[in-house]
Amino acid sequence: MGRQKSLIKNLKVTSAKRTHFCKANSKHKILKGDQRLTVKEGQSEKNYCLKCGKKFLDNAIDELSKLRSAIETV
Ligand SMILES: [Zn+2]
Repeated sequence: MGRQKSLIKNLKVTSAKRTHFCKANSKHKILKGDQRLTVKEGQSEKNYCLKCGKKFLDNAIDELSKLRSAIETV
C-alpha cells in the first residue's frame, strides 16, 4: 500500500469565534464558543450548526458507503 490520502481534510469541528448564523439556514444561530462544522471550500470556509453538520456527515457517510460498496471487490 502506498501513501495514505485523507479525503476529508476539508472538514473539521471548530468553536465559533463570534456569534453568527449557520450557512445552511439563517435561522440557526451559532453562539460564540459553540461547536460548529467548518467546511473548507477552496479559499473560503463555511460554518454550519451542529444539527446541519450532523446531517451533512450522515449523508456523506451514506455516500461513502455506496462508493465503498462499488469497489467492494478491490
Ligand atoms: Zn444549521
